[in-house]
Formats: sequence, structure tokens, C-alpha cells
Amino acid sequence: MAQYTPMIQQYLEIKQQVPDAILFFRLGDFYEMFFEDAALASAELEITLTGREGGAAERIPMCGVPYHSADNYISRLIEKGYKVAICEQVENPAEAKGVVRREIVRVVTPGTMMEGKALSDGENNYMVSLARSGHEFALAACDVTTGELHHTTVNGSIAQILDEAAVYQPSELIVDPSLTDECRERTMAWTKVPLINGIRVDEPEEAAAHFGKSGWEALSASGRLCISMLMKYLIETQKRSLAHIREIRFYETDQFMRLDAFTRRNLELMETVRDRSRKGSLLWLLDETVTAMGGRQLRRWLDKPLLQKSRIEERLEAVECLYGQLITREELRQRLKQVYDMERLVGRISFGNANAKDLIALKTSLEQVPELISICMQSGSITLQNLVSAADPCSDVLEWIRESIADDPPLGVKDGGLIKEGFDAHLDKLREASTSGKRWITELEQQERQSTGIKSLKIGYNKVFGYYIEVTRANAASLPEGRYERKQTLANAERFITPELKEKEALILEAEEKMVELEYQLFVQLRDRILDEIPRLQLLADLVCEMDVYQSLATVSAKYHYTKPMISENSHLHIEEGRHPVVEAVMESEAFIPNDTLLFDDLKMMLITGPNMAGKSTYMRQVALICIMAQIGCFVPAQKAQIPVLDRIFTRIGAADDLVRGQSTFMVEMRDIQLMTEKATPQSLVIIDELGRGTSTSEGMAIAQAVIEFLHDEIGCLTLVSTHYHELAHLEGQLPLLRNFCMAVKEKDGEVTFLRKLIEGAADSSYGIYCAKIAGLPGNIIRRANQLLDILEGTGEAATAAAIRSDAAPDPAVTEEPARAAGNDKVMEQISWFGDIPEPSSRNKEKQE
Ligand code: ADP
Repeated sequence: MAQYTPMIQQYLEIKQQVPDAILFFRLGDFYEMFFEDAALASAELEITLTGREGGAAERIPMCGVPYHSADNYISRLIEKGYKVAICEQVENPAEAKGVVRREIVRVVTPGTMMEGKALSDGENNYMVSLARSGHEFALAACDVTTGELHHTTVNGSIAQILDEAAVYQPSELIVDPSLTDECRERTMAWTKVPLINGIRVDEPEEAAAHFGKSGWEALSASGRLCISMLMKYLIETQKRSLAHIREIRFYETDQFMRLDAFTRRNLELMETVRDRSRKGSLLWLLDETVTAMGGRQLRRWLDKPLLQKSRIEERLEAVECLYGQLITREELRQRLKQVYDMERLVGRISFGNANAKDLIALKTSLEQVPELISICMQSGSITLQNLVSAADPCSDVLEWIRESIADDPPLGVKDGGLIKEGFDAHLDKLREASTSGKRWITELEQQERQSTGIKSLKIGYNKVFGYYIEVTRANAASLPEGRYERKQTLANAERFITPELKEKEALILEAEEKMVELEYQLFVQLRDRILDEIPRLQLLADLVCEMDVYQSLATVSAKYHYTKPMISENSHLHIEEGRHPVVEAVMESEAFIPNDTLLFDDLKMMLITGPNMAGKSTYMRQVALICIMAQIGCFVPAQKAQIPVLDRIFTRIGAADDLVRGQSTFMVEMRDIQLMTEKATPQSLVIIDELGRGTSTSEGMAIAQAVIEFLHDEIGCLTLVSTHYHELAHLEGQLPLLRNFCMAVKEKDGEVTFLRKLIEGAADSSYGIYCAKIAGLPGNIIRRANQLLDILEGTGEAATAAAIRSDAAPDPAVTEEPARAAGNDKVMEQISWFGDIPEPSSRNKEKQE
């Protein structure tokens, strides 16, 4: 160490505090990185690696970025999963004795970014902390940019708390060290790969003091541990006020519909499975919010569908009201468009990095509030009225900003121009001194011209020489001796100063310096004053974003002609002419074919058979999505809908996620099924697409049947199962609550048309060969396959066929028509509005005749 220069020694000392972060070391106008950090950052950021003499024999590797564009580099490093420690000069270099004192002012991590491109407006950026105490697991999810802090505890398994953590899609996870390994292993399949840190807290006092005694004492042991870890981490990395993180929003996980991470993905709630894009997800469709915070709130609603009928109905009431009133909705949208991201503005105020423009943005937002409140009050919606009836519009804060901050202030807070005239008498005096000084100078210019007779004489100003009198070189000689002191000679002009000019200059500059300093002080005073009002501003922001979500849901509902669902007390699920909201919205040429769904006490399971591409999974997902939409309080794509309050939706669809986990498809399927069998209740909806693939036909079929029987007999949950095992159709005869359905298909002259219509009865062929044909398999393969099929079907050896082909031909014994017809009649009686079901496919018909 001793061989290094004092500055490098200082660097090395500071670096020791943050061994796991890249240290941005402020040197003048640059942040420099040294040693390994320099090598790493230069490679990651593609910037030049240079060297610097540092006292040792070898030059020290170094790279740097200009401080004014550092944010961009920092976010790039964060996105790549690094942490960045920012080290600033904390004393004025002019006054420093020896090396300028430097300190780390903040450590930026993926979960604690305050700005930058990686931070999307419409998304929260959560960091999640997890802890265990005995059998209880606790979770805290905090968005540092907005100050939200959600907290829950569960008794049970780590899987459950991790499911909950996944809802937040955290960009960073801090866990109690006893959980680190398990968390690493189990979070592999999550959408973002989080940075996991183990944190030990010995003294939770700091967190307790932050939240106050009463809030703290209400927490359980695991809750305290997990919030202490979170706060410790935030305090250590952020090193500043966290005043906006004040309210611990506790919730019980059973207040909301449970959706495990895979179901969320499978149903494409937030992003598509195929390319993980937001476009094509349910969120994308429903998001007509106009404020960033409304966008985030909508996402939170979709993360947590409600379970309380009355609360769902409250939301639906607001949506219904706005649905019907285009003008009110438009007014609301126009107002909301002028509302800035109050949550993040408040976060910046708390962090101490809000500038005057931010305060103006807050002012503009607050200015909209009275009108927003009045729109809600006059909307006729009880929910909207209740929302705003006790609202505090924070008009005092608005007034403070209005009277003090200039209308169009600069970005910087240390260059003056922030404070309005008339706000502070002292500032006004300084301003007056400065302006009168400048006026005096203009007058002096006139006088000098007259007294010297030089018309082109002018008075100018620059940073080096201050005010000067400038005349052309030709005229310089005609200046009287003695009075003018030559200061600078240019190519064709001379610059002079006079004692009186300098005297005035001193006054002007002093006034200006004081003015800038005073403006900064006044600004900071105001910012600190607002700091105390943060909880009120946060409450108001909550209201505003809720309005935005209501108008968004109403706008979408009106745009796609959705209907208001009725929420049933029991587990009856009745959808008339339901559509898949997203598929319908993106379909260009054809129209989406609506389908009905009826599940009730006597019919809890639909076994859906039909060829590939017939629309089975679209149908099953549509049912799940309609239920979720209803439970967040949105209208649904259907003619009529009666929706039960589902406690949980399970899905077993597709195999895209399996690769991530590196397990065999079959194993994953069985695990998901195991979870269903353990956790599903009669109020759950279970969706299984293509049950029993991935093992031998007979085994697959056996498992499928056993699972169906179990769900039917033991659980009685609402269940939609699609399968290509047509043999399972016979279950209809054995399980009273199960019915066969299939996707209608028209077949004519060897051409198959998918009608996309769900009809009763089992499909009698999977049209596998037809699919192979349209997929372009060579003609001779298709011919040979048809030949083999004829042979197998001709001999009636269905069992042999099933053993050879995965798409088995139906067993004539189990798809006997009379049984199906009887089933049809029974259900038809119960579903009076099932209405216009098309004719069964011609092939079905032929068989019946
Ligand atoms: P399956 O699960 O039976 O193989 P899918 O549900 O994947 O079939 O549907 C295949 C395609 O058919 C989808 O890409 C979708 O665009 C279209 N489709 C499905 N259902 C409908 C419908 N009701 N109306 C119009 N098109 C549909």
C-alpha cells in the first residue's frame, strides 16, 4: 500500500468497503475506475482501458466516464447484474489540504435504481427480502422509487413464499442466510434472474426506529427479521433519507387469488410465453392507463385478483359507470394526462435528488386534483365518490410550490433561476442589486461613448476578466491617459477596465453569488418542507392511480364490447359466448368464434377432445382469463357471465418452461399435478392441457384417468381437461360430474375445417394425419399413414393401434353414440341459453346415422 500515491491509497481504502461493487471514483469531471474494476468495466462498457501512474512500478489500469453521462453507464452495468458504488468528492478541492476527502454516497444495485433506462415507467422495480422464523416465512417487497413496502407472512413451505415473491418479479432478492441456497435453486426459473444476497441482522433497532413503535410491534418475528434486513440493506447502500418508505402494507396471501409463477406465465398475464414480450399479454390488452403510476397499479391489480365479492362488485360498479359515460371518461383521461409520476416524484424528494422541474411537475399534477375529484363526485359511481370523498388534495403543498418556484426553472439547482420574484424579500433585494448594477453598466456604456466620442465602444463580460470596456485598436489611442487600465489585447480590439467598473462588478457578482446560494437554500427548504408531507402525497397518489385504473378498465371494456360479470356466491360458472380477450384483439381477418362455458354443481369437469389446432387451449385459457378479469373488477369478453370467486387457478399447459428448469417435461407435469392435488379446493379452477403426454400411451392414459378421478372424487374443483386420449371419453359414463366436449370440425372431400365451436360429445379422431399433411409432410408418408390407419381401424384392433400410434383411434366401445346423445340432452336442458350450437361435424353426423 505504502508504495502508492496518497490518492490511490485513498481509493484502495474506500474500495475495501465495497468489495462486491464496481467503484466509480470521482476525479474532477470524471468517474474513474482502477485495477480489476477498470478491466471489468472497460470490457462491459466498451470503453478504453488506459493506465495511470500511481506510485508503484507498474501503471495502474484505469478507465473513466464523464460524470454528466454516468447514469447511462451505471444502468448498463446494473442491467448486467453488477452493483455500482458512487464515490464523490465531499469537500471543496480548493479548500482541501492534501487529497480531497471522498466518500461513497450511494451504492446502486438492480433493486435500488432511482433512474435510468432500465427503470420502466409502467413497472415497479421491487427488491424482495425473505426471512424465516420457526415455521413462518415472511416477505417484504419494496420499490425504492415509489416507497411502497408490501409485506406478508405464510406458515408453510418455502415454495409458497417463493411463489409470492415471484409475483413481484424482483430484480434483487435479499434473504436470511439460512435460505440462500434454497432460494438460489428454486428461483432459477423466474423471469428475471435476481441478485441474491444473504444478510444477517443483529440489531433490528434501526428499522424499528424508522417505522415507529406501534408499527413495529405489530409485526411477527419473521416479519421483523425480513423488514430489518431490507432496511439495513437500503440504509447501507442508499445512505440517505428513506422518508418515503413509511407505511408497511401488510396483507394476507389468502386475501387474493393465488396464481403460481407457472400459471401466471402460462396464462400470459404479464408477458407472452413465446418471446416474453408485453405485447400479446393480458396486461398489454387491459392497459389503457394514461399515467405511469396507473400502469403500475393495474399491474398490481392483475397480480392480485380479489377474493371478496363485495370488493369486486365495488370495482365493477366504478367500471360500469365510466363504461357508460364516454364524456366523463374522456374528461378523466384528459386530466390524468397532465398528472406526472407523483409516486416517483415523491421518491426523488425523499432521496434529495428532486430538482425544481420535479417540483413544477408535482405542482402541475396537484393542480389537476380538484377537477379529478369533482369528476369522480359527479360520475354517479358510489365507488368513485367514496374514493375521493375524504381525499386530501394537498392544496397547501400546491400553494407552497406555486408561490415560490419559477414557472420554467432550469434543470440544475445550483445555477439560480429557481425562485419566483416576490417570494423572499432578501432575494428580491439581491436581484435588485444585480439588475440595478447591470442597469448602471448600460448607463456607463452610454456615458463612456459620449465622453470618449467612440461610438463603437462597448462594455462586455467574460468569466476570466469580468466586466471590461472594449474599443477597436484604432480607437484605443484616443482614450485619455490614466483612467483606463489595459487588460487584454485582441486581434483588432483592446479591453480595458476602470476602478469604478470593477467596484460595481464586485457588487454585482457578490449579489449574484449570494442570489444563487440563497435560491438553492430556499429550494432545499421547500423540498424539506414537502418531505414532511410525503405520507399525504402518497395517499393522494394512490387515489389518482386508482382512478386511472378504473378508466383504463372501462375504456378497454367499452372498446371491445365486454359485459359486466355477475359474481356468484357459489361455484357456478356460466359464460355465454365467451371470447379469448387477447386472441380476439389481435385477430386480423377472421372473427373470433365465441363459446359457452357452464360449470355448476352437477357438471364440474369438462373433458375436451379434438384435433390439434382446433382451439382447445385457447378455449381453456379464455375461461381462466375471463375469471381473472372479473376478479380484478373488469368487464369480460362474453355476452353474459356469471363468475364464481375462485380462490386459485392452476394450469398445466405447454412445456415451454420446462427447459429452463432442466427437468423432463413429464416430471414437471407430475409436479404441477401434485401441487394441484394438494392445494386445489372446490373453489379452484384447474386447467390441464394435454394431460399425460411424455410417457407411454397406456401409462399416460392411466395417469390421466387417475388424476381426473381424483380431482372429481376428492376435490370437486372446476376442471377443464383437454386430452388426445379419446379413450378417456368413457369416463363420462362413470364420473357423474364429468362431460365430454369437443371442438367441432367439418370434413369434406378430405379437407378439414375447424369450426372453433365447442360442442358436446367426444371427438372421434385427432386428425393427426391431416395436421401432418398441412404441415407439409411428404405425400408418400401421408399416404402410408392413411393406409396404416385404415388397416388398424379395419381390424378393429384399437389397442394395437394405440400401442403403435400416439394419436390413438377411438375405442368404438367407449364412444358409443347413444351415451353421448343422452349426455347431450341432459346438459341441454340445464343450459337454456346454450342456444345456437352448430351442427356436429359431418363426420360425427355420419357416425350417428
Ligand atoms: P389446440 O389447443 O386445440 O391445438 P389452439 O387453442 O392452440 O388449438 O388454437 C389454434 C389456433 O386457432 C389459435 O392460434 C387461434 O388463433 C385459433 N383459434 C382458437 N380458438 C379460436 C376461436 N374461438 N375463434 C377463432 N380462432 C380461434
